Amino acid sequence: MTQRWPEWLQINDNLRDLSPYGAPQIDSPVRLNTNENPYNLDSTLQASIVAAISDNVSHLNRYPDRDAVALREELARFINEISGTTINAANIWAANGSNEILQSIALAFKGSAMGFEPSYSMHPLISRAVGKSWISVPRSTDFSIDLPTALIKISESKPGIIFITTPNNPTGGSVDLEDIKTIAGKAREVSALLVVDEAYAEFSSSPSAVTLINDHPNILVSRTMSKAFAFAGARLGYLIAQPAVIDAMLLIRLPYHLSDLTQAAALAALKERTRLRQDVEQIKVARDGVAAELRALGLNVLHSDANFLLFTGFTKSAQEMWSSFVDKGVLIRDVGIPGHLRVTIGTTEENRAFVSALSSIL
Ligand code: PMP
Repeated sequence: MTQRWPEWLQINDNLRDLSPYGAPQIDSPVRLNTNENPYNLDSTLQASIVAAISDNVSHLNRYPDRDAVALREELARFINEISGTTINAANIWAANGSNEILQSIALAFKGSAMGFEPSYSMHPLISRAVGKSWISVPRSTDFSIDLPTALIKISESKPGIIFITTPNNPTGGSVDLEDIKTIAGKAREVSALLVVDEAYAEFSSSPSAVTLINDHPNILVSRTMSKAFAFAGARLGYLIAQPAVIDAMLLIRLPYHLSDLTQAAALAALKERTRLRQDVEQIKVARDGVAAELRALGLNVLHSDANFLLFTGFTKSAQEMWSSFVDKGVLIRDVGIPGHLRVTIGTTEENRAFVSALSSIL
């Protein structure tokens, strides 16, 4: 529902009809609605973060490193380790969550924005909030990107920014690297940037688009520590791109946007990255297990390379199903696709609670 603004409040025209982003924050015993990592950081990692933060508390009278160099260097090392690239801090920008990265891109670069929907709802919201028009290209019935249609739409509409989410939220599937290259090539013909949103990349076995940024300078890859690193509360997202893109980020970033405490906490978490991988593997195994259980209950589950599943095949409406889950103390997500619901993979107990609520609702 859009808001009615008082007449004395001259809100920007592009904001007038928007609704704020909002998964309902209901205090439910089992919360599987925002694709968080269900495992808290282990106590050793918590202790290193506390130590890193307390080292910084002694100089909070001073502004932080405006350019977050140490953190960007460590992020570059992490990416090189997992993707075999040779990037460095000049290819990385860091911000308070990847939403801020996406907003910075939208603020810095020209033209309208395009996306393949259903996908992450913040892409159109951020684009419109900064005054861009939004071009929605529907996905195929199996929720994959229809490549010929995508190429035609890019040639016709000549957007400035194109968003691709892989693995896609809320549908879970990945976009083939070859298709990303083809779309980037077409985008280049119309001088568009291709933003590849890889918020869930660590849960996928597909190679990352960071391997493409040298040959395709118009590819920008957005990533986050919110999901695989179990760091959603700390807020740390980052961008991997050509140095010229990063130079543009320096123009629009707010001075000292990333606090000393955030930089220290993220560095400490990154240094312990091997410990976190185990949780990611566990979540992937649990995801495939839950998918098999849903199929055994007669539902259709989309293939997912992420930490959530989109399922369909129930007879009630998505809204009714969602409410029945809430009544049973399980919060999942109605993502607005008729007849479909999305569930985040949780701990073994949470997954069990979800499956048992589902069996009793069906
Ligand atoms: N991209 C996608 C596809 C997401 O699903 C999310 C979070 N739901 C984000 C970006 C933003 O995450 P964060 O700001 O926590 O990095």
